[in-house]
Amino acid sequence: MELLKKRILEDGVVLNGNILKVDSFLNHQMDVALFNEFGKEFKRRFSDTKVTKILTIEASGIGIATIVAQHFDNVPVVFAKKVDDSKLGNNVYQSYVHSFTKNKDYFVRVSKDFVNEGDQILIIDDFLANGCAAKGLIDIVRQANANPIGVGIVIEKGFQPGREVIENLDVKVESLAIIDRFENNQVYFK
Ligand code: 5GP
Repeated sequence: MELLKKRILEDGVVLNGNILKVDSFLNHQMDVALFNEFGKEFKRRFSDTKVTKILTIEASGIGIATIVAQHFDNVPVVFAKKVDDSKLGNNVYQSYVHSFTKNKDYFVRVSKDFVNEGDQILIIDDFLANGCAAKGLIDIVRQANANPIGVGIVIEKGFQPGREVIENLDVKVESLAIIDRFENNQVYFK
């Protein structure tokens, strides 16, 4: 998606040679008009399958997913919780996720009330790196006997194994911008 690539080149900052900071439009301040373009593009790429629900993960996925859902007949958006929420009780699907960016392990949890057998679920997230977050979400969808119809990613770090991890689980991946490499703090796309 050329508009997104242009924005990354204009506003993205490479940190420590391996992290892309896009706080001015994606992860802190959010460009809603741009998110709307993400929605149009995801709808085009996932038009062949019916979607009944969108699943994402807190925090950055939430804003993106809510705008994207408007392009999928306003289906409900569910976000997996990373923070322990005692109000969820035991009525949860959960999966263990390792975060390489934060170098810690955590559970992601979704109430059993909101992912149901037979749901056709599109997973949306901001970044795909090693695929751990998306893999955890797919695990939750499958625990519920729902169908993960695909993973829609805004920015994929194509030099990390995330895509392979997800495709090995037989789930389609669509990314709006795929980064080939960072070199001298510059971003190069595939
Ligand atoms: P994965 O689980 O695929 O290794 O990583 C995905 C998660 O890590 C994303 O949801 C995102 O929060 C975070 N992440 C990974 N790499 C980057 C990056 O380069 N920049 C930002 N802003 N977040 C990243």
